[in-house]
Amino acid sequence: MARGHKDKVAVITGASAGIGQAYAKRLAQDGCHIVAADLAPATETEKLVTAEGRKFLSCICDVSSQDSVHKLAEDVEKAFGRCDILVNNAGIYPRKKFLEMTYADWRQVMGINLDAAFFTSKAFVPGMKERNWGRIVNMSSSTFATVVPDYVHYITSKGGVVGFTRALATELGPFGITVNAIAPSLTRSQGTLSQTPRAGNNSMDAEFEALAQRQSIKRPEVPDDLVGALSFLTSDDAAFITAQTLYVDGGFVRV
Ligand code: NAD
Repeated sequence: MARGHKDKVAVITGASAGIGQAYAKRLAQDGCHIVAADLAPATETEKLVTAEGRKFLSCICDVSSQDSVHKLAEDVEKAFGRCDILVNNAGIYPRKKFLEMTYADWRQVMGINLDAAFFTSKAFVPGMKERNWGRIVNMSSSTFATVVPDYVHYITSKGGVVGFTRALATELGPFGITVNAIAPSLTRSQGTLSQTPRAGNNSMDAEFEALAQRQSIKRPEVPDDLVGALSFLTSDDAAFITAQTLYVDGGFVRV
């Protein structure tokens, strides 16, 4: 087990499902108390966290709204008095051709995938700075480094996450706060399983398999493949690692 997690408070956005839920379970196993900030209730996640004997708080929150994130910060302060680890995981990936994409489509993706990290960091960094310890992990995507159509808004937002990660790391390094990003490839989650397969694939299972054949490790990625990287990056062992984007993708892209 990585060092430094015992009784830390981790706020994970988008933790009601998918990758965020796997993150919540792993950080609870590591010894953290968990706050799930999600549009949807986190009933399943609560069971996974409390089964590990850790405290759990579910906050219904729209991370693309600064008011909603402000309320989240108040609730976290009331319940725990601190946030030590912030995981900006909530995200959406609707496919749309650029020529059909409206400014509203663009703003929606930017709001949830990028603006949200600004709002949550504004809310929780001051407390981390006071305590001289903090870990922020943002979710990017291998699509930023590959050729994927219909994702101009999404790939731009995930590139923005890389820039935000680097720039924020520069400013927060002196305060014991690290900022890193994790970039998965196509991962089986509630979100991706409910997508329509791309042309040439009969099902999402076929799409997962086809992508897996382009990786070094030839099986589809699952949320549990990502939790070790999160555990490490949020631990004391990673205190000297910041501003990095870690591709956890079975050896799909090389950067
Ligand atoms: P998912 O759709 O399975 O789960 C996302 C969660 O975020 C849901 O619980 C949803 O309710 C919540 N959410 C959505 N909008 C929200 C909002 N405005 N406010 C608060 N919560 C909101 O997604 P996932 O596949 O687990 O993806 C998680 C993250 O990983 C995303 O940032 C995604 O871009 C990134 N990612 C995923 C993949 C993949 O293939 N699954 C690949 C690369 C990157």
